[in-house]
Amino acid sequence: MPQATAYAIDGPTGRFARTTIERREPGPTEVLFDIAYAGICHSDIHTARGEWGPVKYPLVPGHEIAGVVRQVGAEVTRFAVGDRVGVGCFVDSCGQCEQCREGDEQFCDGPGGTVWTYNGTGRDGLPTAGGYSSCITVEADYVCRIPEGIELASAAPLLCAGITLYSPLKRWGAGPGKRVAIVGMGGLGHMGVQIAAALGAEVAVISQTRSKEADGLRFGAAEYHAVSEPGTLRGLRKSFDLIVSTVSADQNIGALLNCLKTGGVLVDVGLPEHPVTLSLGTLVGQRRVLAGSNIGGIAETQEMLDFCAGHGLAAQVEVIGADDIDAAYDRVVAADVRYRFVIDTATFTA
Ligand SMILES: [Zn+2]
Ligand SMILES: [Zn+2]
Repeated sequence: MPQATAYAIDGPTGRFARTTIERREPGPTEVLFDIAYAGICHSDIHTARGEWGPVKYPLVPGHEIAGVVRQVGAEVTRFAVGDRVGVGCFVDSCGQCEQCREGDEQFCDGPGGTVWTYNGTGRDGLPTAGGYSSCITVEADYVCRIPEGIELASAAPLLCAGITLYSPLKRWGAGPGKRVAIVGMGGLGHMGVQIAAALGAEVAVISQTRSKEADGLRFGAAEYHAVSEPGTLRGLRKSFDLIVSTVSADQNIGALLNCLKTGGVLVDVGLPEHPVTLSLGTLVGQRRVLAGSNIGGIAETQEMLDFCAGHGLAAQVEVIGADDIDAAYDRVVAADVRYRFVIDTATFTA
């Protein structure tokens, strides 16, 4: 069995420590790849700290994974040794249900449902372990190809942050002639600005402060608005065709909805802790839409990677070593990162 050096956390208040885990010998339809980089997503932190329900400790998080193929099963034709590949938030699904057939494997209704990359249960009945490790074995159908032209380090965050924004922007028609606002300029938002601009939309950022204004404009935004300045949202009344909110803090959704034109769409991809109170007249009176979105399917994730490569887009990353994971978690919680931490697995043996 292939052995992986991994970094695991053993409880909600624990610290990351080096360990060794076993990966499957790749079956006929599986790929074993050496992980080069793993992004740190805020979801990793919520899960590792037990904030999103039961956790199978010791936990090896990581669902923004980029690396190079080491070994392929006998029936794998799409990948060869040496290929640059990536894996995102899930590693398996039933493949038969309506959602899977539609390419929305992240919403699988089949037996076992979507198998999440970590803190899930794989087909082998064993807990899944994510990208904070030196290698991983995954069904080839759940592996994406990372195009030449994107560095592996800056490709890794695309597998979650990139697709989380690409999917709703595409679905709800971001493009030429459309005014699109991205709310929040973190790991998700900084990808949203780049992707929406590359799709041809006129992009605005709605952020808490102006501290990231220069970056936002560099990423392709035409406007930058700070809600800490009084009257900002009121001044943006009926301004946008589409708003994508990446914010996980509590916020006034009604005030955001009022920034939509008649018939506009607000897509939320953040998960605030508390329920939202909303006057439905804000929707009804202007035929507005309030929608949610959750990552994307495998085909769409590949489309996103190809799109980013074709437009020269990538995540802006801060590469860290294994010893820095705990400190990086604290900095992500404090919103002190521009814009994604990525763990370099070359530091695992140092
Ligand atoms: Zn994520
Ligand atoms: Zn399914």
